[in-house]
Amino acid sequence: QKFVYDFTEGNRNLKDLLGGKGANLAEMTNLGLPVPPGFTITTEACKVYLDSGEAPEALRAEVSAHLDALEQKMGKKLGQADNPLLVSVRSGAKFSMPGMMDTVLNIGLSDKSVTGLAKQAGGDERFAWDSYRRLIQMFGKTVLGVDGELFEEALEQAKHAKKVTVDTDLEAADLKKLVRKFKKIVSDEAGRDFPQDPREQMDLAINAVFDSWNTDRAKLYRRQERIPGDLGTAVNVCSMVFGNLGPDSGTGVAFTRDPASGHQGVYGDYLQNAQGEDVVAGIRNTVPLADLESIDKASYDQLMQIMETLETHYKDLCDIEFTIERGQLWMLQTRVGKRTAGAAFRIATQLVDQGLIDEAEALQRVNGAQLAQLMFPRFDDEAKTEKLGRGIAASPGAAVGKAVFDSYTAVKWSRSGEKVILIRRETNPDDLDGMIAAEGILTSRGGKTSHAAVVARGMGKTCVCGAEEIEVDTKRRRMTAPGGIVVEEGDVVSIDGSTGKVYLGEVPVVPSPVVEYFEGRMHAGADDADELVAAVHRIMAYADRVRRLRVRANADNAEDALRARRFGAQGIGLCRTEHMFLGERRELVERLILADTDDEREQALGALLPLQKADFIELFESMDGLPVTVRLLDPPLHEFLPDITELSVRVALAESRKDHNENDLRLLQAVHKLHEQNPMLGLRGVRLGLVIPGLFAMQVRAIAEAAAHRKNAKGDPRPEIMIPLVGTVQELEIVREEADQVIAEVEAATGTNLKLTIGTMIELPRAALTAGQIAEAAQFFSFGTNDLTQTVWGFSRDDVEASFFTAYLEKGIFGVSPFETIDRDGVGALVRSAVEAGRATRPDLKLGVCGEHGGDPESVHFFHEVGLDYVSCSPFRIPVARLEAGRAAA
Ligand code: PEP
Ligand code: MG
Repeated sequence: QKFVYDFTEGNRNLKDLLGGKGANLAEMTNLGLPVPPGFTITTEACKVYLDSGEAPEALRAEVSAHLDALEQKMGKKLGQADNPLLVSVRSGAKFSMPGMMDTVLNIGLSDKSVTGLAKQAGGDERFAWDSYRRLIQMFGKTVLGVDGELFEEALEQAKHAKKVTVDTDLEAADLKKLVRKFKKIVSDEAGRDFPQDPREQMDLAINAVFDSWNTDRAKLYRRQERIPGDLGTAVNVCSMVFGNLGPDSGTGVAFTRDPASGHQGVYGDYLQNAQGEDVVAGIRNTVPLADLESIDKASYDQLMQIMETLETHYKDLCDIEFTIERGQLWMLQTRVGKRTAGAAFRIATQLVDQGLIDEAEALQRVNGAQLAQLMFPRFDDEAKTEKLGRGIAASPGAAVGKAVFDSYTAVKWSRSGEKVILIRRETNPDDLDGMIAAEGILTSRGGKTSHAAVVARGMGKTCVCGAEEIEVDTKRRRMTAPGGIVVEEGDVVSIDGSTGKVYLGEVPVVPSPVVEYFEGRMHAGADDADELVAAVHRIMAYADRVRRLRVRANADNAEDALRARRFGAQGIGLCRTEHMFLGERRELVERLILADTDDEREQALGALLPLQKADFIELFESMDGLPVTVRLLDPPLHEFLPDITELSVRVALAESRKDHNENDLRLLQAVHKLHEQNPMLGLRGVRLGLVIPGLFAMQVRAIAEAAAHRKNAKGDPRPEIMIPLVGTVQELEIVREEADQVIAEVEAATGTNLKLTIGTMIELPRAALTAGQIAEAAQFFSFGTNDLTQTVWGFSRDDVEASFFTAYLEKGIFGVSPFETIDRDGVGALVRSAVEAGRATRPDLKLGVCGEHGGDPESVHFFHEVGLDYVSCSPFRIPVARLEAGRAAA
């Protein structure tokens, strides 16, 4: 097993082994781009280290061999006194985790080699000592675990003593003193001296990078981003180039396109006379990348050329870190860049137009979560609200919440149900908890590539950064906007991540242009919103063209059905009839439940019949020509009766007043009789149909009569009758016999041939396990993955998410609730086998799913794989399901 790869040995497909950074450095090296030479230690080495606590046996020798080669190539030796080679040691996992893990620069500097470095830099003592103090600072903090504040304070003191404000004003002598101070801090705090042996520095730094995989903040970030915890990180050892060698040096970040809008152009930030970490940390203010043209035209032109090479090579938006050392451009990193949801859609279609990718690839460049994000409402531009200022639109969305100025408060308040906006001068990785808890993030410093911007974009969270007119005072927990407006902790603010605008108070929201488009109220055109709409329109067309899964809606009234249709629904996959028994009809249900005699019961059912029929007529009309799956009554009957405690109190009060209410007394008796310890496992679903005479027959009659009515009105009704909670084929057979008879009666009476189909939900483990038998009596299956998840796991669907799921998610027992994304291994396995058994019995069995999973992106891919015919989900999720079904098939 090989643990170390030279940059010339790898390529971009080796991300698992070399991490994203290492794989792309190798790719750029092999493209002939100017990358400082170096090598990558694999994630496999990291895994061995994390498992055993020790680096693998062979690693030391391999590193030595690669270091030798590097020294040969560079013509200098690591840390050599008169002409030192210096290296950076950087983390780089398969998935980018911005700012989460460790980096140490300037490895190889020591009391001896610092003079050699000054010589290399043409006698620049200041630079050499500045580099040395940076090494001790970074090494002290990340490798030896010294509190970084101590170094910061010492630096501040040095500046104060000298009466200067920026560190570039410190001279060689000051920095030399500072180095002495820093070394003392290390000895005092770490219990050992700062290592003078360059190889020891390097080895310790490599181990520290391995260790940084398991810091709390890295673990939290992975959980949030659903990155597996066992991947480990690679370590890149790269020869140093310096951006802090004077005004003809500098460092920057760049995007080949705007990650917020997708537009092509020059996007990025540049910082003269600085090292890379200064930019990402957002510590000093950068200039726009376009300004580099006037600072160093040759490097700028070369960079533009390289950016074009990268875009055509990667066929995607790339982001880049670069350094200019005395007029020589070096590429330190590239990767396919993160982008906003809107930009993802635009870029995908732009790349199709440029002929770089085809439609199938365009579908892989976007996803349902991004589409869902684009369907969120936006702020109303017309609303009269006080503007506090404007920053950079770093991550879109409209967020409203109470101002908080630290991460701790953000978490605390959000736990107690408050919506908060986290406001900081700039964020750093320690703010991650607060960023997750907040509705949105506002900073007064830093550009589109600052920590706040990058992390927020990754999380899909609204962010405005670099709102420089706003003065943030975290100590006093307030901010001051131009005109002296003061916002205290707890005051409500609104931030718009699409425009960068910041408002005082709550700004009302308006629907997103993408929803307006799906609703048919907006068409493609020329302005900014329409460009997005046009891209969404095209991508949806690609998805619809290739997808095999059909998409239906869960809807039980005409309004929802019509919206679903506009959103592209191809029928209704679940009409929950219980929703038709609420409101004023509840009383009729009560009468049905309380009925003592056949006569009373028939009267109650007779009163319900026309109401149900009218509902169905409307529904079939709204879905004319498309299938409508009507599910017969499912929930336990007590749900239609008054609450047991309330009713008991009412009856007791009436008793004490000697005021007997016969009806209440009967109700109370019924409530007691129907009371169940586990209602979800009790008298519900098909069981109701079997024990309450006439109930299902009434519903079937209403469906059949409504269908006949529509037929006679020259409509095209296509109802499908669905029986819930079946556990054995016998239940279904009994219900079917009665239903067939009712349908035959209605057909005879109305002179119609209704072609009604009858099927069942598969939502109990026993139903799934005996699917082959059940298919004998069912013309279709619809998987009820809500109940199936509940019963397979033994998780009460109404309780567990609030009670212990947070603990389960934190312990990593699952990365996401199984009620949200289908559990492939357990519930999914049952679905898969039921599909096979069902089809074996009845080859033309129609198969769908109507649990919440039907609209979940990842689950849609699973349902595609197992060969269902359709998924059914709530109307708003339909575009997402269409898109994901297309992505699954492409
Ligand atoms: C299900 O159980 O997945 C289902 C769709 O039915 P309900 O959610 O109504 O129980
Ligand atoms: Mg169910």
